[in-house]
Amino acid sequence: MARTRPEDIAPLWRRACEAAIAFRHDVRDRAAAPQDDYAASLRGFSAPLPETGSDPEAVLGDLVRLADPGLMTPTGPRFFGWVIGGSHPAGVAADWLTSAWGQNAGNHEASPAASAAETVAAGWLLELLDLPREASLGFVTGATMANFTALAAARSGVLRDVGWDVEADGLFGAPPVTVLIGAEAHATAYAALQLLGLGRDRVVRLAVDEQGRIVTESALEALSGVDGPAIAVLQAGQLNTGAFDDFATLVPAAHEAGAWVHVDGAFGLWARASRRTRSLTDGVDAADSWAVDGHKWLQTPYDCGYVVVRDRESHQRAMTIAASYLPTSEAGDRDPSHFVPELSRRARGFATWAMIRTLGRDGIEEMVDRHCTCARVVADRLRPEPGIEVLNDVCLNQVLVRFGADRGDTEGDHVTRETIARIRHDGVCFVGGSSWRGREAMRFSVIGTETDELEVSRSAEAVLTAYRSVVSPS
Ligand SMILES: *Cc1c(COP(=O)(O)O)cnc(C)c1O
Repeated sequence: MARTRPEDIAPLWRRACEAAIAFRHDVRDRAAAPQDDYAASLRGFSAPLPETGSDPEAVLGDLVRLADPGLMTPTGPRFFGWVIGGSHPAGVAADWLTSAWGQNAGNHEASPAASAAETVAAGWLLELLDLPREASLGFVTGATMANFTALAAARSGVLRDVGWDVEADGLFGAPPVTVLIGAEAHATAYAALQLLGLGRDRVVRLAVDEQGRIVTESALEALSGVDGPAIAVLQAGQLNTGAFDDFATLVPAAHEAGAWVHVDGAFGLWARASRRTRSLTDGVDAADSWAVDGHKWLQTPYDCGYVVVRDRESHQRAMTIAASYLPTSEAGDRDPSHFVPELSRRARGFATWAMIRTLGRDGIEEMVDRHCTCARVVADRLRPEPGIEVLNDVCLNQVLVRFGADRGDTEGDHVTRETIARIRHDGVCFVGGSSWRGREAMRFSVIGTETDELEVSRSAEAVLTAYRSVVSPS
């Protein structure tokens, strides 16, 4: 079975393609929550290690049958569970070819086409997000690795400034690095610090306001006390509220204190692609590094994120892999692996290139605006209902909701949990659960490529119906 006859490929791939088409065709009408939970899915997949091979078409048939009941619906129009994108069909098509072509995007010798697509898509991304055109950009798995890579560059840069070579000598005995970060920063920014030896808890946690924004005055005070190498981590688009830190004030102040400024903008940085929301990010382009996702608002399939670093040298130094068998690139040639932790890797440039070509600058702007409008529609529909409180200023695509807000804390937590469970059970839409300021909340994130006002209106009605059945069961 190990070798494939060319004529066997077509029936197998046609079958995969047909299964994919059937899934995407029906996903609009499917219950928004999976039919099977993890335990049920696991029972389905569980089997002893196969001792002998099987016909690939039979394997594919089993895969489709076993996976289907446990598939989530972010590709559907009424999925609001997390800020995760909808894998646009055009991006998926490019991604299929990426797999079929089997390119290793490690360097430009291993795949000239993959490297070239990345180089061009990187330039387009810098234009769309209006970040410094001379910045370097790496294609990573997501904002988690983008945060990691950017903070590795930051670590390299600020220690290099005081004469310490962290790539060669590590952190043992290095001058201490002060890290300032908002108390409501995304968990993955803290995880990146943990991976880099900078410590998750060994940080100055900056106070945040009721929207999760860093309180500018207290950050300025903290910055004024900074001495020596320092990194400040800011945020564009708070996970729960969509809020933005005050870049126009904080970036120059952090620079004044000698700090490298990193911005986690996994979804929020896309606000720059729309003329309506762009001002939320004013001043962000003066930072030193940025993390942003492709698989959120740009709707590329999973996985795809981008790390952008103003100082190309720090970026490249932090990610250097030196080996005798690797080609040394000519001056000016961009190798994908220079800007990411991995060597062998998926050619994410193809799907990114295809998505930007498919949507265009105006299509991306339309989508961002549409999702922000949808979020306001939902908030406006829910707000008048007694006992429902919209907890955030709906400035972007996030709506944070408390149910049973007219009851005590514990009772409100209970009503909120029950309402979320009921909404998921009813299956019209899928919403997220979160905890905000120590209390339970529902998170309604509008980000899917198929979502429009009609779909969110229908979903808001489903939320109200579920809530009413929880507080006044008939
Ligand atoms: C989603 C998100 C991340 C993590 O991104 P992944 O793509 O899941 O790795 C980091 N920061 C923010 C603000 C996010 O919304």
